[in-house]
Amino acid sequence: CGVFGIWAVGQSEEAANFTYLGLHALQHRGQESAGIVSSDGETLHTHRDMGLVADIFDADVLSTLKGGAAIGHVRYSTTGASHLKNAQPLAVQYAGGPVALAHNGNLVNAEALRAELEAQGSIFTASTDSEVIVHLIARARASGAPGSAEQLVGAVRQALGRVSGAYSILFLTPKVMVGARDPMGFRPLVLGRLKGSWVLASETTALDLIEAEYVREVEPGELVIVDGSGLRSERLFPDQRPQARLGRCVFEHIYFARPDTVLFGRSVYAVRHGFGRQLAREHAVNADLVIPVPDSGVPAAIGYAEESGIPFAMGLVRSHYVGRTFIEPQQSIRHFGVKLKLNALKDVLSGKRVVVVDDSVVRGTTSRKIVKMLRSAGAREVHLRISSPPTAWPCYYGIDTPSRQELVASTHSVEEIATYVTADTLGYLSLDGMYASMGAERSGFCDACFTGEYLIQFPKRTAPPPLR
Ligand code: 5GP
Ligand code: SF4
Ligand code: MG
Repeated sequence: CGVFGIWAVGQSEEAANFTYLGLHALQHRGQESAGIVSSDGETLHTHRDMGLVADIFDADVLSTLKGGAAIGHVRYSTTGASHLKNAQPLAVQYAGGPVALAHNGNLVNAEALRAELEAQGSIFTASTDSEVIVHLIARARASGAPGSAEQLVGAVRQALGRVSGAYSILFLTPKVMVGARDPMGFRPLVLGRLKGSWVLASETTALDLIEAEYVREVEPGELVIVDGSGLRSERLFPDQRPQARLGRCVFEHIYFARPDTVLFGRSVYAVRHGFGRQLAREHAVNADLVIPVPDSGVPAAIGYAEESGIPFAMGLVRSHYVGRTFIEPQQSIRHFGVKLKLNALKDVLSGKRVVVVDDSVVRGTTSRKIVKMLRSAGAREVHLRISSPPTAWPCYYGIDTPSRQELVASTHSVEEIATYVTADTLGYLSLDGMYASMGAERSGFCDACFTGEYLIQFPKRTAPPPLR
């Protein structure tokens, strides 16, 4: 998912418009539903719907979202069905007044908390983990006047103190906007400045679009409070020491974020390009062309071509009217996805030995179709290169990977995967090579989907079953 928020006193009627633009720039983070909640200082105004940002909001809708502050959300489901009632921001009325929240991430103890809250009388309307936070806020006993920043911050601390997992989350009331990032920092969140306004967004690409200046990352475990008196930064849990081991999602760098984003302080494009160079050093091969699987494989393929000296070419053309295949929640749509999305260029490929670079292999079905497509377009050899290690474990922290059984690398060796996808050779980037090429310490990142080293334990019930 993607989140965006702006506290824009002074450009008072523009908050929803800026949020619309911000969400547009974050559309790659979720295409199922989107929403904006604005504050006019007295009440909140909400609009949410299924579909893409550009289809949901027009000038008429935006004109109803009045006020000088707003938060927004684009969603793809990691928990809960693809349904309007799961769309965010969630907006409710509680004893402290109206409050809205927009959450990116995944809570690992949401089911247990939900069962507990339901036993105590809470009624849930949606099926997402995020709704648990709303109920915890409603039940919090925080000091301060109803609707005040003090009261919201107290309630947020109590609520987030009970959840564990990944959250980059924004809250909005008529009087205050709050942003928080979980202590491990799984999902990104950045702070920006637009003239007199403060902006919070999942990625810097949203700041670029509205010409806001990138200030810095919101730190793991940081709480940012923005209201009429300006911006304050506090520790989310003042009694906890900052984590020594952080869990910034390395897969954001590999695939999820946009290449024009500065993520966790590094350029995504530069990181992917470096992965490609490293991949060429680790898995060299004699070939005539390096081609990317567009769009996600492009920066790494450029890096591979530069390092190997093999010419770069466009061997696959992508339709831009299809969403991210993986993110389509239905298997039937996914199945068609590849052909809808990619076509091979015979002129380029005919008779050539081709290195094809992609960012990841999940089920292996896409890769298999791509290899076959390249061969039927005349490629003489197909060498598949993947700019990440084998994805062998599901994510519990906010990326929608399938179950362990469906991840081809959890049950198959690299040789077996090469055979399955019918590639002449297959090479994955090594874990050490990945961090070395970033110039990063592994202790700053989560890489559980490659290593199975989960940084936050999840309930046994949802644990992956043992394999082999
Ligand atoms: P597969 O060969 O496993 O069927 O598909 C791999 C492709 O899925 C890659 O091109 C990768 O870019 C794409 N992909 C799209 N969305 C996701 C996602 O959310 N997670 C992962 N791991 N890969 C994704
Ligand atoms: Fe990211 Fe993988 Fe960790 Fe999930 S398991 S947070 S996708 S690195
Ligand atoms: Mg891809």
